[in-house]
Amino acid sequence: IERNEFVLHYQPQIDLASGTVTGVEALVRWQHPERGLIFPDDFIGRAEELGLIDDLGWLVMDRALDEVKQFANKNQVVPRLALNASVQSLLDLKFPDRFTSLLRKHDIPVDGVILEITESGLINELSHTLDVLTRLRMKSVHLSIDDFGTGYAMMQQLVNIPATELKIDRNFVKNMHVNSSDRIMAEKSIEIGHELGMKVIAEGVETEQQLELLRRVGCDSAQGYLYSRPLPPNELVRWLGEYHARMDR
Ligand code: C2E
Ligand code: CA
Ligand code: CA
Repeated sequence: IERNEFVLHYQPQIDLASGTVTGVEALVRWQHPERGLIFPDDFIGRAEELGLIDDLGWLVMDRALDEVKQFANKNQVVPRLALNASVQSLLDLKFPDRFTSLLRKHDIPVDGVILEITESGLINELSHTLDVLTRLRMKSVHLSIDDFGTGYAMMQQLVNIPATELKIDRNFVKNMHVNSSDRIMAEKSIEIGHELGMKVIAEGVETEQQLELLRRVGCDSAQGYLYSRPLPPNELVRWLGEYHARMDR
């Protein structure tokens, strides 16, 4: 953190009905001077154990809110920025105020962001985070339940989480066209999400076949290698230009 070695890559999120890019998710990487690019699964857990995840989280959010503006389309519409928040950060009652001040600092409207929190993190700490989640929702901050289906939320807990989006975990998406239990998980997640008034997004979409199936069962949007891998800012700008040009044709 002191040596400023973290960089962000961004992955587009696509609305399945219109094909438009509605959002981008910021994903942190550690650009290590000797070891090269290190992926978050190799350091987020350590950062949490060492009590550094909060500092890292604010650094990432500050950087992403700055960088997202360059992804505006020709009508100056900036895609919604999806930020991953560690549940540890949500234990702090000051988080909501600090978060909205950061939005003001960058002149990004509250509708311009969504906070993704893993289902397992939420369920484990629900009694402690519910206050912060509710305050965030009262400030109209959008909340997404990430890795949905892996954290075993009970219906009763799910209805208490004031989320606006449900994100189906990529492990269900992966085999949903061959494995009926995964397909049922994905289908039911979409139904539950809609039933609770949430939008549903699928992550890890790699094939047309998966996309077709997701579209058929009413999923709202998708993200995955089929569209693009997470890219450094300058490469995403180029990808967006090409994508929009193809859409206009
Ligand atoms: P996540 O939030 O579930 O992010 C999605 C992961 O799936 C990303 O891995 C992304 O690169 C990968 N992915 C995207 N499309 C595809 C696809 O089509 N197929 C496959 N197989 N994978 C795909 P990544 O970037 O390695 O991030 C891993 C996890 O690290 C994230 O999972 C998230 O939980 C965490 N993370 C990333 N950035 C941050 C951050 O800034 N703060 C916190 N607290 N956690 C972060
Ligand atoms: Ca995420
Ligand atoms: Ca996920």
